[in-house]
Amino acid sequence: MSAVRRMFVLLCGYEILPMTVSLRGANPRFIVSVPICTYLLDTTEGWVLLDAGLDEHHLRDPSQIEKYFAPGAWHPPPVVKPEHEMGAQLAAIGIGFEDISTLVLSHLHADHSGHIKRMPQARVVIQKVEYDYAFSDAEKIAYFTEDYDLPSIDWQIIDGDTPILPGIEAIFTPGHTPGHQSLVVDLPRTGKVILTADVGDWIENFTKEILPGSATNDDEALASIRRINALWANTGAEMFLTHDPVLVQKIRLAPEFYD
Ligand SMILES: [Zn+2]
Repeated sequence: MSAVRRMFVLLCGYEILPMTVSLRGANPRFIVSVPICTYLLDTTEGWVLLDAGLDEHHLRDPSQIEKYFAPGAWHPPPVVKPEHEMGAQLAAIGIGFEDISTLVLSHLHADHSGHIKRMPQARVVIQKVEYDYAFSDAEKIAYFTEDYDLPSIDWQIIDGDTPILPGIEAIFTPGHTPGHQSLVVDLPRTGKVILTADVGDWIENFTKEILPGSATNDDEALASIRRINALWANTGAEMFLTHDPVLVQKIRLAPEFYD
């Protein structure tokens, strides 16, 4: 029996990126804006969140923009309008960051880890390999250590496929980053859904098996795309992508929900 009652999709802003960041081999002259989505689950065991978006405070302060976005490929910086802010969207549902009991992180890129610091009460579920990588001295792209290297965080480190709650399973999908994970969720009416996170930004990553532009291991990234594809084919589950600019326009966004 699934503990999950409802799923809300929060559209938390946009990133302006070369298409090659999402689709390996695309024309580098194409620039697209891709959404940043997070997923809020209403369960009998409390509120569960998949991913923590980008912290808009990094975009409100010119020195932070200079530090994080000006030097690299992440320029122009992402767009988080007031209506994209996670706090406002949670408030529209009637809750706040303080009500989240479990935060599952697909990985620790800055567009997935921004608001962890606002949920010190939550258990924060992460794959061991991702945790070790994020805290290592390795040269990392798009990891903002000040967003996650904090003593207030109650880490729950898991290793491989792991049930989170009845009806919520973490599946290990490395490649985009060393310890990336996705979620499979059972909803009462909608049925099974796959929250892919960054295994593939666009649906074409899956339908055409196109590697993401950014991967720490291409073989693992392809294996994870194929694993999701097999799950999709075998279960008939609905796919929810974090960064697909077209699909996001076709789904229900919070405060509407899936039940
Ligand atoms: Zn990522």
